[in-house]
Amino acid sequence: MAHGRVRAVTDLPTPSFAFDPDAPGACLAGVRPYRMGSYRLDTERPSGKFVVHNYGHGGAGISMSWGCAARVKDLVRTFLAGSPQTEAAVLGAGVMGLTAATRLLDLGLRVTIYADRLPRDTTSWRAGGQWAVSIMEFAGKEQELKGIVKTAYTTFKQSIGNGYGVSEVPNFSIRRTPGLDTVMDLVPGLLPPREDLPGLPFQNHHDQPGHKYQTLLVEPPIFLARLEHDLRARGVTFVTRRFADKADVLTLTQQIIVNCTGLGAKTLWNDSKLLAVKGQLAMLRPQPNLHYLYGRNGYLFPRADHVVIGGTTEMGVDDEVPSKTVCTGLVRHIAAAFGEAAPVPLPKIHIDHPDNERLVDPRLSITD
Ligand SMILES: Cc1cc2nc3c(=O)[nH]c(=O)nc-3n(C[C@H](O)[C@H](O)[C@H](O)COP(=O)(O)OP(=O)(O)OC[C@H]3O[C@@H](n4cnc5c(N)ncnc54)[C@H](O)[C@@H]3O)c2cc1C
Repeated sequence: MAHGRVRAVTDLPTPSFAFDPDAPGACLAGVRPYRMGSYRLDTERPSGKFVVHNYGHGGAGISMSWGCAARVKDLVRTFLAGSPQTEAAVLGAGVMGLTAATRLLDLGLRVTIYADRLPRDTTSWRAGGQWAVSIMEFAGKEQELKGIVKTAYTTFKQSIGNGYGVSEVPNFSIRRTPGLDTVMDLVPGLLPPREDLPGLPFQNHHDQPGHKYQTLLVEPPIFLARLEHDLRARGVTFVTRRFADKADVLTLTQQIIVNCTGLGAKTLWNDSKLLAVKGQLAMLRPQPNLHYLYGRNGYLFPRADHVVIGGTTEMGVDDEVPSKTVCTGLVRHIAAAFGEAAPVPLPKIHIDHPDNERLVDPRLSITD
């Protein structure tokens, strides 16, 4: 039914919000590796080893991955100039580990990936997949981040159509999307300009002003599976191993070690700046007729495997247990925006953590 205006031929299709929270895999939760102050991308020389740290990318790890991997490659190349080596160890098989390993291979190194979780069990696999710099701090690193963002976006864009699960999509949102505005401020002209619209091009309940961005969708299950496939094809060995602490890591025979352990670095490298930020996702059936992202205090990302509804942030919550109540609430919240459900109050979660005030509402926050 149309509210306030006649449906235009250009109106985009309304999603189907049919959702069974009891179906296997319908609700997911992941924990973002958020680092207070900024992400970590630097080097140190413990016990004569050359360690590159590459972790703490919060809600932007998929997006930044290729840019950070290029920086890792530069750091290792500089080291190699004074200390020739043939091997490197990468810790972690999430997006940061897989992309870093890819670039180390490009330097001609033999690479072994050590991780206690293989790609499909990592946080990276659970990401929504919008290309944006969201839920991540970068104080004092604006210059470095510019280069990272530029390389990352360009690399993803060049991979469109090559089987990496990347596509260019519009993002329609009621409020401005901070993770995309940040990119526009950092690297003007990288993304097409934002369009401010008098109404969004949907049939139901969309007469109020909104915004149209143009960004990328990176579908983690396709992207990570492809990276893993490519790495194995190029001779990379995956070793399932859990490291207890830094001393354990330093028993590795490789001189070059790239630490991409995400939230694991909190205990592994004793990094007290790392903070778990839980996010929950409702997975609806795939709907190939939808070719847009949507944001309204939460998001809807149509992917090949599912239509994903998510955007919750629970600061300091370090568990991967999804709540059916939260997932159902998320679906109803976005469905209501399309006039497909009665408006409902957002699901509330009490989070008792001193850092809650830092980023979000202390109960439940939903970010665009
Ligand atoms: C719900 C949700 C939605 C998201 N949406 C987006 C999005 O739309 N766009 C985006 O860009 N980002 C998004 N993110 C963020 C993104 O998922 C993360 O930033 C990214 O996955 C971090 O990658 P990583 O490789 O550093 O960590 P991980 O994927 O967590 O991988 C860490 C690896 O290190 C290994 N490891 C850790 N500790 C040890 C140890 N002690 N010994 C051995 N191995 C260890 C693990 O086994 C794993 O293999 C989202 C995250 C969540 C939770």
